[in-house]
Amino acid sequence: MALFNTNFQQLKNNYLFTEIVNRGNAYQQAHPDAQLIKLGVGDVTLPLPQVVVDAMHNAVEELAHKETFRGYGLEEGSTFLRKAVIENDYKPLGIDLDMEEVFISDGAGSDLGNTSELFEKQNVVGVLDPVYPAYVDTNIMAGRQIVMLPCTLQNNFVPQLPKQRVDIIYLCYPNNPTGTALTHSQLKTWVDYAIENKSIIIFDSAYEAFIREQDVPHSIYEIDGAKQVAIEIRSYSKTAGFTAVRCGYTIVPKQTGLQRMWYRRQCTKYNGTSYISQRGAQATYTPQGKKQIKENIDYYLLNATNIRQSLKSMGYEVFGGVNSPYIWMRTPDNMPSWDFFDIVLNRCQVLCTPGVGFGNCGQGYVRFSAFGSHEQTQEALQRIKQNL
Ligand code: PLP
Repeated sequence: MALFNTNFQQLKNNYLFTEIVNRGNAYQQAHPDAQLIKLGVGDVTLPLPQVVVDAMHNAVEELAHKETFRGYGLEEGSTFLRKAVIENDYKPLGIDLDMEEVFISDGAGSDLGNTSELFEKQNVVGVLDPVYPAYVDTNIMAGRQIVMLPCTLQNNFVPQLPKQRVDIIYLCYPNNPTGTALTHSQLKTWVDYAIENKSIIIFDSAYEAFIREQDVPHSIYEIDGAKQVAIEIRSYSKTAGFTAVRCGYTIVPKQTGLQRMWYRRQCTKYNGTSYISQRGAQATYTPQGKKQIKENIDYYLLNATNIRQSLKSMGYEVFGGVNSPYIWMRTPDNMPSWDFFDIVLNRCQVLCTPGVGFGNCGQGYVRFSAFGSHEQTQEALQRIKQNL
């Protein structure tokens, strides 16, 4: 008899986004004329930059002709893209990476889950609260003990080092959902902890492209010693609108002792990222690509600034939205997140995300996303101003 993985029974139903959609739909049915504005979801809305579209069209053309057709690529990713990553994302930061340390993926989500296979079950895992749900769920599926690291107003949403030893630490900065970024010295605290405790940090850097402040490191490898203890995961999803295209990468430095294992794992279980996606990702590093991507990110960051400033001027306490597309807002009078969500929906026809959906420490907060259009974002803010 096949024994199923009973750890799955420990997973909480991740009803957050389903519940948001359900409540939105119910409202729409009851009020067919209402124009709902969605500032809840963390998906991009601007189309792919033209250079990416052109590069992907060219790649399809190559595959369409006998002379230029290609079959399987390298499991670790095409040489052209791994080179582009090293030259453009790391060399300018003074970080030298070996080609063998760069692994192209089909996005951050997969590797956040898959890298968990590199570790034994008995490792204790430290996870931020509130948090992007994948880290918790992945480790529940693996049956690991999870220690929550509270990120609250009291600690400026930057967790304190845990009292109990943790072997694997998931850090996500700039953070989803709080929008917080870590300074060099704050990140160093965690790298030093990991070195001292022989722990490994999985550094989720999906929002790196949104960093605008000077003292915020763009890579964990800017911190001395991080190559011994950190895996860094990045994605083209939010950087270049690749949420449907799928492409990202994972850096596994040889000094971690995990690089050969990860290579072996990928060769067994992953047959490489789509050639078309990788050509699209490569185009983001051309001068034109860099310009078009910056324009898109600036577009979202302008929304973030507007949301932050408008809510502040209305008297709300808001965080994030400077190096991040997310604005984390404290509900008035510590109102439970879902109650405030309902008020915003009913009075303003605007959807946000209840903070408690990201963990217990998110109770009393909601998240606004800057990934909408300028017009809709302005309209939503106007409605909030008039009706709350
Ligand atoms: N990490 C964080 C913090 C995210 O918010 C997301 C997506 O929203 C991901 C990873 C997944 O990104 P990808 O589309 O590359 O799988």
